Amino acid sequence: AIDRPPGCINRYPSPQFALLCALMDRLRNENVSKRRESLERFMHQWRIKVGNDFYPLIRLLLPDRDRERPVYNLKEALMARCYIEVLGLDKHSEAAQRLIKWKQPVEGQREGFSGDFARVCYQEIAARSVVEEGKLSIDDVNDLLDELAKGRMKQHEYVPILRRINEQCTPPQQEWIIRIILKDLRISFKEKGVLGAFHPDAMALFNVCSDLKRVCWTLYEPEIRLEKNQTSIELFRCFLPQLCHRSPSSSLDACAKLVGAPGKEFIMEEKLDGERIQLHMRGNGAEWFYCSRKAKDYTYLYGAHVGEGSLTQYISGAFQDGVRNIILDGEMMVWDPILDKYLAFGSLKTAALGALGVSTSLTFPVKIFDILYLNDKCLTGFRLSERKRLLKSGRVFKDLSNFRGRLEFVDEQMGQNGKDIRAMLESVLESKGEGIVVKRVDSTYQTNSRGADWVKVKPEYADQMGENLDLMVLGGWWGQGGRTGKISSLLCGLRVPQEDDGSGETPAFVTFAKVGSGMSYGDYDWIKFVSFISPLTYTLLQESPQGRLAPI
Ligand code: ATP
Repeated sequence: AIDRPPGCINRYPSPQFALLCALMDRLRNENVSKRRESLERFMHQWRIKVGNDFYPLIRLLLPDRDRERPVYNLKEALMARCYIEVLGLDKHSEAAQRLIKWKQPVEGQREGFSGDFARVCYQEIAARSVVEEGKLSIDDVNDLLDELAKGRMKQHEYVPILRRINEQCTPPQQEWIIRIILKDLRISFKEKGVLGAFHPDAMALFNVCSDLKRVCWTLYEPEIRLEKNQTSIELFRCFLPQLCHRSPSSSLDACAKLVGAPGKEFIMEEKLDGERIQLHMRGNGAEWFYCSRKAKDYTYLYGAHVGEGSLTQYISGAFQDGVRNIILDGEMMVWDPILDKYLAFGSLKTAALGALGVSTSLTFPVKIFDILYLNDKCLTGFRLSERKRLLKSGRVFKDLSNFRGRLEFVDEQMGQNGKDIRAMLESVLESKGEGIVVKRVDSTYQTNSRGADWVKVKPEYADQMGENLDLMVLGGWWGQGGRTGKISSLLCGLRVPQEDDGSGETPAFVTFAKVGSGMSYGDYDWIKFVSFISPLTYTLLQESPQGRLAPI
């Protein structure tokens, strides 16, 4: 936690939320350069008319980055039920059904907003609201949001808070509040734009702490500049990790050239299908801290002290005595020793939570691929080859073969060309892996970057690496955002082999996979056309449970 410096203070009353809504309207509608200007002007006015504490403003502009109010547990489905109550709608009325089935396009409506929950809510609120002028200030809205984020609440606890919002805000203001709660403003202005307009060093500080309050309270005056050591990652503070660049070409040789000069080696690691985790330890193993790629604190799951959690209790003895403090970067996995395989990522947290209370045979190995801090020294400026050497040197870990299934190194090999990449990719795919990451050996660690020093290679990007399957589209799901009003994911089926008994029975299919990415709009049109003309698909869809599958 950071204390507010005495000079960081808002001397004047909090501005009306309506002013922020007008700004967000402009940020949504204006072109990129105008948007930046509008935001800078707003911030300039804030400094003059409000003060120099920008945290109340910036946390509303970047709701998905606000760690202080991490979860509302209020997604579209629950919010729809709450608003049905707030607006006094009959559950079976058209308006209530519209809120519940917000993704489904409305027949005959030319300019529908299906797929945009906040907009659908706005329409139903606007049809009933009598509020012409909002009464809430920016501070009031923050207070109401704090109330909504008090913990996992029941519908009847959310409703009175949303009712107060409904009584004191105009319909467009409520639409913005709903977007803030859903953490998606849709203003195409993310942290780079917002923090860039606030202070030239704000993004650099955010990259190493993921803490908006710290950024706002450290850089509250434009004259305050960061010292070099303030842009280093620190113990027990979430940084934004380095991510992977997508291989730009289907040629593996081109990919090899990207990460290694001709004849120079690069590192190839398995791309693990778990959850990115950073592990911090200090006080010679006395305290532990874990957090995700999006800066979510998972220490409560994995264990804050020796003997605790689903991981710390098993790995605290893995470090050499000389390791006083450390930060490791890796991937958290779920291993099922009975099935002898890693489980899908989605089951991970539920399983880890279960392990806290219920006895389970599952284990949660963390697979380490980088070391970023050791004994009070930040290592991000070191080359990857040096960091790897240190990781494996024996100075950091005891013999990790004694910690199998708990703490392991990622599988890695050295490569020189596209042939090496293909060989490793094939072997990873044989063991049901999803792909590999190739890394430049002389690269330093760049927080929050997606540069070409780390390139992910998956079979679908590479020539002739995929498998062909005969599938049939059985159904689809309505999309949201850019895919509003269109089918965005397809449910594919695999035909069950049957003996042809000449009865002419409809062949049977089993659902096989949901496909939601990697297709162009042209592909969608083609699939839609082919599916529509197939009488078999049409029959299957007509027979599908209503509301779950949409006839294409
Ligand atoms: P995709 O949709 O292709 O799976 P992604 O969501 O995994 O992408 P990317 O930024 O493309 O995200 O890839 C980075 C992620 O890959 C990391 O957050 C990490 O969880 C995962 N990852 C798995 N194995 C590795 C590895 N060996 N090195 C770095 N990242 C890895």
